[in-house]
Amino acid sequence: MTTPADPTPPIRRRGLLMGTGAAALAATATAGGIAAAQENDAESEAAPKVRLRWLGTNAWEFTTDKATVLIDPWVSRFPTGAYTSEGADPETDIEVHEDVVDEHLPKADTILVTHGHWDHIADVPYLAEQTGATVLGTETHLNLLRAMEAPEAQLSQLVGGELYQFDGYTVEVFRSSHSASGEHKQILFGGTRPGAVPKRPKKIKDLIEGGSLTYLLDFGGVSFFNAGSASFHEPEIAGIRPTAVFVQPGGKHTPAYVERLLEATGFPPYVIATHWDDFDKPLTEPAVAGGDVEALRERVAAASPDSEFLLIDHLESHDF
Ligand SMILES: [Zn+2]
Repeated sequence: MTTPADPTPPIRRRGLLMGTGAAALAATATAGGIAAAQENDAESEAAPKVRLRWLGTNAWEFTTDKATVLIDPWVSRFPTGAYTSEGADPETDIEVHEDVVDEHLPKADTILVTHGHWDHIADVPYLAEQTGATVLGTETHLNLLRAMEAPEAQLSQLVGGELYQFDGYTVEVFRSSHSASGEHKQILFGGTRPGAVPKRPKKIKDLIEGGSLTYLLDFGGVSFFNAGSASFHEPEIAGIRPTAVFVQPGGKHTPAYVERLLEATGFPPYVIATHWDDFDKPLTEPAVAGGDVEALRERVAAASPDSEFLLIDHLESHDF
């Protein structure tokens, strides 16, 4: 685990307008009376501790004393050849290793889905069932999850632009696009499934991208911006000032992906490498780089020299 540091986050755009986290809860706490409100006010003065843990790919767990939030929680890791020269075999059968999910992801209150690819959502139906978590995603993501028997009552459909209050944190949602690949700038397993639940996805090619979303997860003093692939919509996220932003290798079709992302997010105090491991390799061993993470580190250092670059290994944590 890396050493906790004083994040001293810059002033948050939205915090001034409406308050977030404990302060917002205190402001709306009518049933609890004055004593409870004062208690909440006292709590709001200190930034909450957030423990961030990496589960490989773009799978992240955020834990506070109140809640567990997951982004793209996928730990089953069946081999696909994604990091070979041939790329992932579209005919690979989807596997859900329930024992592995149980071991590494025992709790969740909220699950944020960035897009529909297998390495982001294949474990979500089982995980939602086990934990009772609220699952946020696009109509297509939710239809894919429904087709894999995710519990309907827990699914929350997004279009981008939402700002939701949860117990001790807010989630703001932004429209985005998946990074493109190849000569013709195509999206791997692209497409949508609106309107109706498709037949059950069996192979990884059945888990289509289904639109992409990015998220600002704000614990009231400590906040994180995550995109599931190496792309983002700059006008959508204008003015956000997270404590930490996630960056990943790739994005060669996204001009100045790293540099523009860091500028758009106000050169955050922390920049965290994500989705950099070869996910055909075991989660229980140190990560094997699938992308050039050292080149990423150098790019971040050049573009934002005052940011701390965090390279968190498999199953390791950093406290904010
Ligand atoms: Zn993807």
